[in-house]
Amino acid sequence: MGKTKHGGPMRLPKTPKPGLWVSPVPLGLGKVKPHHIMDTFRTVWRNRDNLPYAWRILTRGVCDGCALGVSGLRDRTLVGPHLCTTRLNLLRLNTAPAIPDGALTADIDELRRMSSAELRELGRLPYPMIRERGERRFRRVSWDEAMGRIADKFRSVDPKQAAFYLTARGLTNETYYMAAKTARFLGTNHIDNASRICHSPSKTALKRSIGIGASSCSYTDWIGTDVLVFWGSVAANNQPVSTKYMYAAKRQGTKIIVINPYREPALDGYWIPSIPESALFGTKLADDWYQVNIGGDIDFVNGVMKHWFAMEKREPGSALDLSFISKHVNGLDKLRAHIEGLSWDVIERGSGLSRERIAEFAELLARARSGVFVWSMGLTQHRFGTDNVTQVVNLALLRGFLGRAKCGLMPIRGHSGVQGSSEMGADPFSLPGGDFDPATIGRIEKLWGFDIPKWQGDIVGVTLENALLPDDHERRLRLFYTSGGNFLETMPNPDRIRRSLENIELRVHQDIILNTSMLADAREAVILLPAKTRYEQEGGGTSTSTERMVYFSPEIRGPRIGEAREEWRIFLDLARRVKPEEAARVMKAETADGIRAEIALAAPNYDGIQRLRQQGDFFQWGGAWLCEDGVCPTADGRGRLIPVASPGIRRTAGAFLATTRRGKQFNSMVYGSVDPFNGALREDVLVNPADAAELGIADGEAVVVHNRFGRLYGRLKTAPVARGNVELFWPEGNVLFPSGVYEPHAGIPEYNTEVKVEKADVFYARKDRKYRSTEAEAPEEDGLPAGAAGAGAQPCRTE
Ligand code: SF4
Repeated sequence: MGKTKHGGPMRLPKTPKPGLWVSPVPLGLGKVKPHHIMDTFRTVWRNRDNLPYAWRILTRGVCDGCALGVSGLRDRTLVGPHLCTTRLNLLRLNTAPAIPDGALTADIDELRRMSSAELRELGRLPYPMIRERGERRFRRVSWDEAMGRIADKFRSVDPKQAAFYLTARGLTNETYYMAAKTARFLGTNHIDNASRICHSPSKTALKRSIGIGASSCSYTDWIGTDVLVFWGSVAANNQPVSTKYMYAAKRQGTKIIVINPYREPALDGYWIPSIPESALFGTKLADDWYQVNIGGDIDFVNGVMKHWFAMEKREPGSALDLSFISKHVNGLDKLRAHIEGLSWDVIERGSGLSRERIAEFAELLARARSGVFVWSMGLTQHRFGTDNVTQVVNLALLRGFLGRAKCGLMPIRGHSGVQGSSEMGADPFSLPGGDFDPATIGRIEKLWGFDIPKWQGDIVGVTLENALLPDDHERRLRLFYTSGGNFLETMPNPDRIRRSLENIELRVHQDIILNTSMLADAREAVILLPAKTRYEQEGGGTSTSTERMVYFSPEIRGPRIGEAREEWRIFLDLARRVKPEEAARVMKAETADGIRAEIALAAPNYDGIQRLRQQGDFFQWGGAWLCEDGVCPTADGRGRLIPVASPGIRRTAGAFLATTRRGKQFNSMVYGSVDPFNGALREDVLVNPADAAELGIADGEAVVVHNRFGRLYGRLKTAPVARGNVELFWPEGNVLFPSGVYEPHAGIPEYNTEVKVEKADVFYARKDRKYRSTEAEAPEEDGLPAGAAGAGAQPCRTE
C-alpha cells in the first residue's frame, strides 16, 4: 500500500492550443461525430416528467455509469464539471415511472417480441412477480410469497445446486458484500459478478505479477506522463470524460499511443463538450496507432522486448531500467532467454506489424522516463486474456513504470460497481479483503461467525452450463439468483444460454427493469424482484472507481417505485428466511451504516468506508500508487517477470479474425442504432478497404459472416481495420463465439473467433450444397458435462 496521498484535482490551462485541434471548422461541421448538445436536450426531454429529481441525481449522486468515478458533477482529477452522455442516457433508468400493470402482465409472447431497449422503455419493475411453468403471464405476488418460495427452494436443494450472480448495474459495495455473505451463509460458493466477462484477467494477471488486484495509479498520473498507452481500450467511447484527462495530458506534452486492430475514430479526435476550444474545434487525441491483429498483443509485446534486449546488448541501460529491476524485479534472465529464442517471423506474423514498427514503439518507451498503460476488453476478452495483461505488466516492470508519479498500470473499468464486486467477495475466488484461501477463509469465518463452505465455486459461465447437467448430478443448477445481468445478450452462443436458462428449476431476477433473459421459461418458475436504484437506497451506498476512490452516494429525495427494496436488504431477508435462528445470531447488520462498519473490518483496505456518510465523502484505498517505490505486496516484495508464449493464432486462407466493439451503448444496453463516431449501423461489419476489394464486396452490400458456431447477417462497411481482421458490434457478434471456451486462469469467455465473410447471395447460392450437410453432421452440444468442452473442443452448430 502506498503512503503518498492523492494530490487532488488539477487545473486545465486557460489558453487554447490550436496545434491540437482536429479542424479549424467550428463544431466539426461535415464530420461524423456525436452531437452532445442534441443528446443533452434529448435527455431533458426524456426526463421531463421528473426533472428536479434528475437534477438532484446528477448533482448529488455518484454516477452509476462507468467506473471513471464522479461524485455529483466533480471528480478528483480535474477542477471543473464532469458529465457525459453515457450518464445522461442512464438517467432515465432512475427517473422512469413504474411499468404499467397491463404491460407487466401481458402475454409472454407479446413481451418476447420486444427488444431489450423496448423492455427498458416500459419503465421500472414495481412489484414482485412470478410466472409458473406453463403460465402465459407474470402475476403479482407479495414479497412474503416471493421470498418464501425462494427460501423453500433454497432449503430443498444442495447448496452446490444454487448460484448467485451480480451485475455491475449501479450496484453498491454494500449490496455486493451482503450478497457475498448471504451466499456463503446459505452454503454456496457459486457466486460471481460482471467482472467475469470484463476485467477478471486483469486482476488475475496483476496479482500473479505484482500482487495487486486494481489499478496501481490514479488518473492524475495520465497528466504529464511521457507516454500514455491505450491498449484494446476505447476510453473515449466507454469512459467519455477520460477525453478531458487526455486533453489535459496532451497539454503537458504527453504522447498518446493506441494499440488496437481498428483505428477507432473516438480516439483519433474528440469534441470535448466542457472544454470550449475542444467543443468548437475538436482535439486530436492519439499521436500514433499500432494496429495489431486481433489476438496479436502477446507477439507484439514479445517483439518490443526482443528489440529492448537487442538494445541492451549494444548498450546496457539503453532500454531497461536496470536499477529498478535489480531492486524490485525477479525473472529477468528467464524472460530474456525466452524472448531471445523467439523468431521475428513468428512475432511479425502474429502481431500483424513489421519489425520496424515494433521497434519504433519499443524505442519510444525506452526513451520515456514515465509511462502509464491503460487497457480494457481488447486485451482481457481472449482465451489468453491473463497472458495478454501479463505482457503489459512485463513491459512496466522492465521500464520501472510502477509505484511512482506519472507511472502505472490501469485496467480501466466500464461499470461503476465492478471494481468493488470482487473486493467485497462476490466472486468464487475472493472473500472480502482477500482471496479464497485458507488464511482469508479463517479470518472471515471468525468475523462472520459461521463456517464458509470450503469447495471451489464455479464461474458464471460454468454455472450456466451446469444447468444442462443430468438431473442427478451434484452440481446441476436448480436455483439461480441473479441481480441484474442479461446473459442472452452478454454471453457467447445465446442459443445455448437460452437452453440453460430454461433448464433451471427456479430463476430469480432481482432488477430495476425488464430484460429479455427474464422472459425465458424455467422448469418450475421465474420470479422477478423489484430493486431500488443506488439513489433510492436508505442510508446511501458506496462504489469504488477504477482508481480505487470509494465514493459515497447518498439517498436522494424523490419518487419511489412501488414496492422496490434495497438490494442488500433483499439478500438479508433471504438469509433470515432460509435459516432464521442462525441468521439472528450472525446476520446482524441491518442498516447501510452497519454494513459499512462490517466491511471496514472484513476488508482492511476499506478501513475508512465506515466514516462515509454524506454527499461528497470519499477516500482512495491504497493511496495514490500501489507498489509505491517499486515495493510490491508479494511474498518477497518484488515483481515477477513472466515469459509468455505466442498463442500461435493461424488464420486459415480466406478467413478473418473477428472481434467485437461498442457503439452508442453502455455495456450491453444499446442507446442508438448508429455509432456516432463512424456512422456504422449495428449490423455493419467493419472490413479493411483492401480486404473488401479482394472479396469483391462493396460498401453497404449484404454479407453473411459465418463460422461453425453461427451466422451473422449484416452489411459490409469499409473502415481502417487491420488487414485480415473484422470488427462487429457487441453483443450482436456473440452468435459467432463458441460456448464453453474460457480463459484458464480467470475464466473469461472467448470473444474472438475466425470467420468467413461472404456476399449474401454467394453464401445462399452455396448454402444448400455445403452448409446443410455441415449442419447435419454437427454433433449436438446439450448434455455435455461442465468443463468437458475445453478451448477448441467445442461441438458446433451453424445456426
Ligand atoms: S465518464 Fe463515466 S463516471 Fe464520468 S459521467 Fe460519464 S459515465 Fe459517469
